[in-house]
Amino acid sequence: MTFKELNIAPAILKALDQENYTAPTPIQEQAIPAVLAGKDLLGCAQTGTGKTAAFAVPIVQLLSSRQPAGGPRRIRSLILSPTRELALQIAENIEAYSRFTRIRCTAIVGGVSQRAQERALQQGADIVIATPGRLMDLIHQKHVDLKHVEIVVLDEADRMLDMGFVHDVKKIMAMMPGSKQTLFFSATMPPEISKLAGSILKDPVRIEI
Ligand code: AMP
Repeated sequence: MTFKELNIAPAILKALDQENYTAPTPIQEQAIPAVLAGKDLLGCAQTGTGKTAAFAVPIVQLLSSRQPAGGPRRIRSLILSPTRELALQIAENIEAYSRFTRIRCTAIVGGVSQRAQERALQQGADIVIATPGRLMDLIHQKHVDLKHVEIVVLDEADRMLDMGFVHDVKKIMAMMPGSKQTLFFSATMPPEISKLAGSILKDPVRIEI
């Protein structure tokens, strides 16, 4: 199997080639067609499996193919991550995959100055990768509007719950349109995670790696 056979657009194929991604990993083979088809996803997968590209590559492609011709750049995808390190890693990967597209992303994480993040948001981003705490602060201060989000990712959902973010995550989910596509990833699936997934996913494709 190749990325081309997964119907990845030429601009993204070129970027993946530069990253030396020669073939999709098993999770990418399963997730990419489902995400491109607009399906919700429930993925039981660890870091190191190629999970990031499994959601990020089709998100860049979908947003790129439906990019409005004019008007302000709006947040059309939100990726929630439990930690700053993971969020920055995801942002770095998305920057690489979207290098030859007009898609822009920015990271919103705690522990660093908020000012630069406010400026980046003002300049406009199609994709925001965020930790829940700092995102809530910026939402309350009206620097972030989630009303135009089309695709949301909950990455490492089990860790987000362990870290006490469940309340924030539920509040953030409620600020986005009901019609959005949701991708839910967790390394483990204890009952409270299954329950959370069941409450937010619509007829998801299930993937286990
Ligand atoms: P992840 O599970 O998303 O943290 O990815 C683990 C590592 O594998 C990262 O360094 C990725 O850049 C790399 N990677 C992801 N997909 C591929 C691929 N299809 N071919 C080669 N490397 C990949």
